[in-house]
Amino acid sequence: MSVILDGKSLSLKLREQIQVETQELVSKYKKQPHLVVILVGENPASQSYVHSKEKACIKAGMKSTVILKEDTITQLELEEIIIHLNDDDSVHGILLQLPIPKHLDEEKIINLIDPRKDVDGFTDINVGKLNKGRSDALVPCTPLGITRILEEYNIETIGKHCVIIGRSQIVGKPIASLMLQRNCTVTTCHSKTQDMRGITNQADILVVAIGKANMIDETYVKPGAVVIDVGINRVEGVITGDVDFDRVEPIAGYITPVPKGVGPMTIACLLENTLTCYKRMESCKQ
Ligand code: NAP
Repeated sequence: MSVILDGKSLSLKLREQIQVETQELVSKYKKQPHLVVILVGENPASQSYVHSKEKACIKAGMKSTVILKEDTITQLELEEIIIHLNDDDSVHGILLQLPIPKHLDEEKIINLIDPRKDVDGFTDINVGKLNKGRSDALVPCTPLGITRILEEYNIETIGKHCVIIGRSQIVGKPIASLMLQRNCTVTTCHSKTQDMRGITNQADILVVAIGKANMIDETYVKPGAVVIDVGINRVEGVITGDVDFDRVEPIAGYITPVPKGVGPMTIACLLENTLTCYKRMESCKQ
């Protein structure tokens, strides 16, 4: 039996703290934190994520604007929107909901976002700052959420072997940087890794971000390990992680469920990043 890492409850706690701090700062600066989300096209999953982000913002006392654009938008039109938002003093956070249509240059558009308003932490400037261990980096929300879970449950990281499966820009790479900063010994596995079981069985902390439902069973996990399941997969309409929870939970020390594990922490950390951008920008104006 393992300890269930309850991301849902922790996210609610963090969101309440953010709401209280937002209220205090709005009376001080006479201005609401303002997040703008740009959604291109009609991908139902993206629409649902954007709706959740909008609801969370409003509940926290922040202003939320969603800019909806058709998937026929040109590169130039999208770039102009970003430039306008960068220049707008009332906007603290800018988030481009991914994926965007293939005819658009995603890298170029992301890097046009003012790094001070980059609440997703995807610009080269923030990625570079994170990799250098700079404390002013804006950190991608999902990896930031994972570190908040580890902190909440007082999980020791110093000297521990953290194995990460997945090397995406959104999860795998930034969590590797964060765990290295927390003095873990870090190994990253991916689709070309040989003898992955041999490696994951050495993990004190195993972070799984693959995108393959139930791929990681108990044969990949060292007894007593901390297992963080980032996966969100829909199997016959049911949300399922990358870890086979029923088989791993009996032997793990700690484990995140799916849903109600890492997922809710992503939105809480988006609010945290928006508040961080707001505080930095508004305190400079005082
Ligand atoms: P991604 O960009 O598709 O990356 C998947 C990674 O898994 C790649 O690095 C890939 O290796 C690796 N991989 C694929 N098959 C593998 C295998 N058989 N063995 C070992 N490694 C393998 O995915 P992502 O964006 O990181 O997302 C991963 C999962 O997390 C998805 O289910 C996604 O929905 C979920 N997610 C959840 C949240 C949240 O809020 N909870 C946020 C983001 C993502 P290669 O690099 O070699 O191809």
